[in-house]
Amino acid sequence: MSKTNETQAVVIGAGIVGVCAALALRQAGLAVILVDPDEPGGEQAASYGNGAFISPASIVPMSVPGLWRKVPGYLFDRDGPLTIRWRHLPRLAPWLLRFLAAGMTTTRVERTAAILSRLLHDSPDRHAALAQAAGVPDLIERRGVLYVYPDRAAFAAEALSWRLRREAGVTWRELDAAALRVFEPALSPAYGFGVHVPVAASCADPGTYVAALAAHAASLGVRRVAARATGFTFEGARLRAVETDGGPVACDRAVVAAGLASGRLAAAAGDRIPLEAERGYHVQLTGGAVGGPHLPVMPSDGKMANTVTREGLRAAGQVELAGPGAAPDWRRADILLRHLHATWPGVARDLPVRRWMGNRPSTPDGLPVISRARRSPDVFYAFGHGHVGLAAGPKSAALVAALITGSAPPLSPEPFAASRFGGWW
Ligand SMILES: Cc1cc2nc3c(=O)[nH]c(=O)nc-3n(C[C@H](O)[C@H](O)[C@H](O)COP(=O)(O)OP(=O)(O)OC[C@H]3O[C@@H](n4cnc5c(N)ncnc54)[C@H](O)[C@@H]3O)c2cc1C
Repeated sequence: MSKTNETQAVVIGAGIVGVCAALALRQAGLAVILVDPDEPGGEQAASYGNGAFISPASIVPMSVPGLWRKVPGYLFDRDGPLTIRWRHLPRLAPWLLRFLAAGMTTTRVERTAAILSRLLHDSPDRHAALAQAAGVPDLIERRGVLYVYPDRAAFAAEALSWRLRREAGVTWRELDAAALRVFEPALSPAYGFGVHVPVAASCADPGTYVAALAAHAASLGVRRVAARATGFTFEGARLRAVETDGGPVACDRAVVAAGLASGRLAAAAGDRIPLEAERGYHVQLTGGAVGGPHLPVMPSDGKMANTVTREGLRAAGQVELAGPGAAPDWRRADILLRHLHATWPGVARDLPVRRWMGNRPSTPDGLPVISRARRSPDVFYAFGHGHVGLAAGPKSAALVAALITGSAPPLSPEPFAASRFGGWW
C-alpha cells in the first residue's frame, strides 16, 4: 500500500492496452505500477508487430456467415490467409465452434460490428491526443487507409463488410484504376479498383509508440516492475497483492492486460475465458519503401496490411490457429513476402527481410473482455482485443479506468462483460 492514501493499482502487461490503462489510471489519480517481464514495445508483444492500422473501418469480425464451409479447406490449404493446424483441432474445437457460431447469421455479425464501431469510431482522435501528450505526435499519421481490389466485382463481393461500415458512419471514396494510380503509382496493375477511407489513421512504428507511451507514463509517476505475474493474493474477496516471479506486489486494484497470457490470470481471478492465439506474422523489408506504397494499403486478396513503418516496408497478416507454444511456421511469413512483391513489383527483391510471429489474443465472439472479475471487486480485465487491439487500446483503457474509479464510462461496458462466457466449460 502507498504511504499516502492513494489507491494502488497494478497493471499486468505493458502492451498497448496495458500502457494505455496505466496512463488512464494515473491520470485518474491512482498510484500505478506496471508489471511486465519484458520492455514495453518489445517484440514479445502483439503490439510490436501488427499492421499499424488505427481504423474506424476495422469493425468486420473474422467470423462471417458461410465461413464454416471453408473450414475443411483451412485444414489443408497452406497458402490461404487463414490456416488451422489439424493436429491441434481437438483442443481448438470448442473455441472454433463458438467462433463459427458468432458469425453464423448476419444479425450476429451486425451486432458485433455495431459494438466494435462504438469502441473504434474515435480511435484516430484518441491516438493522436495520446501521441501528442507523449511527445511523439509524428508516430500517428492521419492520411487514411486504402483497400485495393482486382476490380469492382471483387469489391462488390464484400458488400456485407461495406454495408456494415456505412451503417457505422464510415465514409469512403471509390477509385477507378486511373484514380487509384494517382494514389499509388507503384501498385501492381493487377489491382484495378480502390477504396480510400480518409478517417483512418496508422502508426509509423508501433513498438516505438508503446515504448514512448510507457516513458510518458513513467514521467507521470507510473512505476515499472520487471516481473511475470503469476496470480493474486486475496483476503476474502479483497485483493491484497499481485503475485509475481519476483515476489508479491502489494495493491488495492489490478488490471489484467497481459495479452494472450491473460486467460491464465483470469482463471486465477475466478473466470474461465475462451482465449486463443490467432497467430499472425509479418515481414519487414529494411529500407524497402522505394517502389512501395505511400498509404497503408490492404490488398483484398491477401488480407494483409502493407504499411511503411520507420523500420521499413511491412506486410502483416495471416491467421494461424495452432497450439500454445507451437513453433512458428515461417512459410506463413514467406506467403506475405511473395504477396508483397507481387503487389509492389518495383520493390527491390534483394532487401534484408525480418520475419516476426505474434499472438493476437482472441475471444471467439470477436469482442474484448473489459470487465470486473467474478472472484473480487478489485480485479479487472482489459484483454482479448484480437485484430483491433492497437486501435482500441486508448478507449478500452478509458473504459476499464472508469469501471475502477466509478466515473462515467465512455461506452456501455455490457457487451464486454466476462460473464458472457459463463457456462462455456
Ligand atoms: C499480424 C498482426 C497484425 C495486426 N494488425 C493490427 C492492426 O493493423 N490494427 C490493430 O488495431 N490491431 C492489429 N493487430 C492486433 C493487435 O496487435 C493486438 O490486438 C494488440 O497488440 C494486443 O495488445 P495487448 O496489449 O492486449 O497485448 P500484447 O501487445 O501482446 O501485450 C501483452 C504484454 O503482456 C506481457 N505479459 C505476458 N504475460 C505476462 C505476465 N504473466 N505478467 C506480466 N506481463 C505479462 C507481455 O510481455 C506483453 O508485453 C494485429 C496483430 C497481429 C499479430
